[in-house]
Amino acid sequence: MDRVKDELNQIWKELPEGVRLVAISKYHPKEAIEEAYAAGQRVFGENHVQELMSKESVLPKDIEWHFTGHLQTNKVKYIAPFISLIHSVDSEKLLREINKQGAKAGRIIPCLIELHVAKEESKFGFTADELDQLFGSGIQDELPYVEIQGLMAMATNTDDEQRIEEDFALAYDVFLHLKSTWFKDSPAFKELSMGMSHDYHLALRHHTTMVRIGTRIFGERVY
Ligand SMILES: *Cc1c(COP(=O)(O)O)cnc(C)c1O
Repeated sequence: MDRVKDELNQIWKELPEGVRLVAISKYHPKEAIEEAYAAGQRVFGENHVQELMSKESVLPKDIEWHFTGHLQTNKVKYIAPFISLIHSVDSEKLLREINKQGAKAGRIIPCLIELHVAKEESKFGFTADELDQLFGSGIQDELPYVEIQGLMAMATNTDDEQRIEEDFALAYDVFLHLKSTWFKDSPAFKELSMGMSHDYHLALRHHTTMVRIGTRIFGERVY
């Protein structure tokens, strides 16, 4: 009956202090979000700009909206005024556009950089080498309306837990490396977003600070 509330309560109990839950509500109706909101959840993640905008306009204003999908540069302007965190920055061009739209909206936009660790071709994101190149160029100091708060990663989509853990371990290594080099003077660089419904238990072993859980809370998505 109170499925959403029960799932949330179980997940909250499992999360150690300092790990935040982003409830991924994509493809679920606003009523599902209202149910989670009533149970106390305030952070929600969406993957599509249109859908996010229509939900944001009717749901409570103290919801913290995160964007977790592939973001097209021409759509940044729609979410720049209110988005709390963009998890999925996967190109330099996108990072520059977020800075531009942050300037227009008069706010600094928190971002995570998407790190590609999965052994799949299709996933978006930068490799560790690409990130060294990007930040070695000093771009993080050129963009005053962007605050880079860390990394987001998705593990290989597999049942092989060892492989998933290898991906998460690599993501943590890259996170520590960036934190001790290009971001050593940036206390804001502290987030590692990883772990979804089927693998967040494994992500917890590898120092995730934010889990992004959809199906486990809201049920299967109807596309
Ligand atoms: C959909 C999605 C999730 C949630 O996945 P579930 O398996 O439903 O928990 C997490 N992160 C990203 C980037 C997603 O696109």
